Amino acid sequence: MRILWTAGLMSILLAQTASSQGVIRLKTGSISPAPAQGMARRETAPGAVRHFLVLFHSYPDADVRAELGRRRIQVLAYVPDNTLMVSGRVPLNLVGLDVGWSGPLDPQAKISPALATQSAGAYLVVFQPDSSLADDREFLQNQGFTIIENPDLLPAQLLVTGAASALPNLADFDEVAYIVPASVDLQSGIPVLGCPGPLTEAGLVADYAQPVATWHSSSGAGITLGYFFGPLTEKLDASLVRSEIARAFAEWARHANVSFTPAAQAETTRSIDILFAHGAHGDGYPFDGNGGVLAHTFFPAPPNSEPIAGDMHFDDDESWHLGTSVDLFTVALHEAGHALGLGHSDQPGDVMYPYYRFAAGLAPGDIAAIQAVYGSTPGFVTPPSGTVTGTGTGGTGTGTGGTGTGTGTGGTGTGAKATDTTPPSLAILSPGSSIASAYASTIAISGSASDNVAVTSVTWSTSNGDSGAATGTTSWSAVVTLLSGNNVVTVRAHDAAGNSSWRAVTVVRH
Ligand SMILES: [Zn+2]
Ligand SMILES: [Zn+2]
Repeated sequence: MRILWTAGLMSILLAQTASSQGVIRLKTGSISPAPAQGMARRETAPGAVRHFLVLFHSYPDADVRAELGRRRIQVLAYVPDNTLMVSGRVPLNLVGLDVGWSGPLDPQAKISPALATQSAGAYLVVFQPDSSLADDREFLQNQGFTIIENPDLLPAQLLVTGAASALPNLADFDEVAYIVPASVDLQSGIPVLGCPGPLTEAGLVADYAQPVATWHSSSGAGITLGYFFGPLTEKLDASLVRSEIARAFAEWARHANVSFTPAAQAETTRSIDILFAHGAHGDGYPFDGNGGVLAHTFFPAPPNSEPIAGDMHFDDDESWHLGTSVDLFTVALHEAGHALGLGHSDQPGDVMYPYYRFAAGLAPGDIAAIQAVYGSTPGFVTPPSGTVTGTGTGGTGTGTGGTGTGTGTGGTGTGAKATDTTPPSLAILSPGSSIASAYASTIAISGSASDNVAVTSVTWSTSNGDSGAATGTTSWSAVVTLLSGNNVVTVRAHDAAGNSSWRAVTVVRH
């Protein structure tokens, strides 16, 4: 099933670079592949589904991506400047498309430079988004890695421990996209929330891609971006939402020559439209409800077109809070980095690491990254019209009593939110150990949960993608269907304030 790429073949191809057909920017270095090299030379059985970088002579626009779709070639990610990561059956039919080069991702480009000095430890393994996570688990175990269960991981990612010397073998496999150091939070099971990456109209920016896009500066002396607030969440006072997001902009402006000033209206160029939305909201990247993706942000123009470039969208199904998870400032600080053109950092301490860490400000790695793009002279933030809008809303109600209504609503709104920040505690009592055996096709799981206020629900999910609600709360039970082999069952207890905790059990079905 899994075919090992001939190690080093890609390096040989790259060494033969003659005339540049364009550049593929990767974290491990930019490459300019030679034309007429690549696909035909690989030793892969025709008909097998494989992953390829496809370098176009110009930006692969919607027409090009639609044509790829008609040819059953799936676009998985965007790589600056004009490259797509795709999957399709060998040989790919790229005839008539404006393609300069195509070939597999070099295994060496799949190992983060941040791992260069690490001899052992924990790694976050990012698989291609269309790979099977069940196969990926089995493959990692066969390679001698130990999987650390963590239900908060983004799709197509697994956390493992093992020797760094085994990473090149891992990277040789087609389904592996990128390997980065795992943060301490991830390793220790502290609840984390992940960001899938900056968006372009051509797809998510790949983790292995060189993570910088730039707003052009005509003067060479930094940039000024507009910002405009669209629909905001009802879960927090609007003036607090505005001030927290402005505070996130200010943190970037404090360290680099980037400035932010309110825009007069939505959808203007060089302006960040900020909005909260549920589910599908018109940009082709629907939100996924509570949990999972919290927010997403479009990279600058180029590569995006205006007016969507730089726009920051927040999932209104999350339980937004100030000062505790889900902390709006923490998420806004990270997303503002994407709006400015930064991708993900591979350093676990950075704000731009793919898993949000509760942050009061930028880390040295973030500061170095933004200064490398825009320079170190501090910019400025013209504050949002928060207080003015507050009074304005009250006044709009009617001339009589408008102020009264405005104040009253604001008061209750703030008072009722963000009081309970204590997650429930949860125990799995049966099975009685974290690894259990079973011969039947189902297993009964039960346990207890408690909370400072009340446990509102207990839910479960399995590594096979099955999920459901348990019966009961403080004393709960569920019957879970098992497949042969390893089944990781994760149980979560929830409270009304959106706090949750989890426990996992691995059931081996013989
Ligand atoms: Zn991100
Ligand atoms: Zn969106």
